[in-house]
Amino acid sequence: TPKVIAIDGHSSTGKSSLSKKVALALGFIHVDTGAMYRAVAWYALDKNLLSSEGELLVDKLVESLDDINLKFELNPNSGNREIHLNGQNIEGEIRSMEVANLVSTVAKIPEIREHLVKLQRQMANEVGIVMDGRDIGSVVFPDAPVKIFLTASAKVRAQRRYDELRSNGVEITFDEVEENINSRDAIDTQRSASPLVKAEDAVEVNNDHMNQEETLQTVLKIIKE
Ligand code: C5P
Repeated sequence: TPKVIAIDGHSSTGKSSLSKKVALALGFIHVDTGAMYRAVAWYALDKNLLSSEGELLVDKLVESLDDINLKFELNPNSGNREIHLNGQNIEGEIRSMEVANLVSTVAKIPEIREHLVKLQRQMANEVGIVMDGRDIGSVVFPDAPVKIFLTASAKVRAQRRYDELRSNGVEITFDEVEENINSRDAIDTQRSASPLVKAEDAVEVNNDHMNQEETLQTVLKIIKE
C-alpha cells in the first residue's frame, strides 16, 4: 500500500527543503509538484506560447500537453531528484523569475491540473513518498495518512526568498520578491480549480519563529504521533 505524506502551504514557506529532509529521515522519495507546474510554465516560455501582448496562449499550451514529458531523475551529485522535460534537466531554469511570474497563471488552467494530478497519483509507490505542493492533501491524495499545512507570514516568506535569491547571485529587490509572493498567493487561493486551502484534517504548522531544523523536528513529531 502506498504511504503518502502530503505537505502543502503557501509559496516560500520552505516546503521543498522540509519535504526533502522528511523524505531522507523516513527513507521515502520526495516529489516537488511545484517543479512540475514550473516545468510547464518554462515550456510555454521556451516555445513562446504567448500573444504579442505577452498573454499566455492557453489553448496552445493545453494542446501541447502530449508533447510535455516530465520525469524526476536522481542527480547523484546533489542526491536530489531533479525535473527533466523531454530528456533535458531544467531544474535550474524553472527557478527563474520569468517562470515564477508565469507559473500561477499556468496552474489555474483546469486541463493542466488534471494532467499533472494524474501523473502525481501514478508516483505513489511501495516505498513511500513525501509530496509537496498546494493541493496534495485536498485533491491529489485526500486519503493521505499524514497531512501538513505549512504557513508563515508574507513578510517572513518574502525575506527568506529574497535572502535565498541574493545568495544565489540573483539581482532582485525585496519589493519585487514580495510582489511576486503576494501575487502568487492571491492567484493560488482565488483560482476556481483546486484553490489553495488547508485540508480539514491537515495539521497547520506556522514556522514564522522556527528555523529549518525546528520546523523539521516539529513535523517529524507530528508524523510519529
Ligand atoms: O511550490 P512552488 O512555489 O515551486 O510552486 C510554484 C507554483 O505552482 C505555485 O505558486 C502554484 O501556482 C503552483 N502549484 C500548484 N499546485 C501544486 C504545486 C504548485 O498550483 N500542487
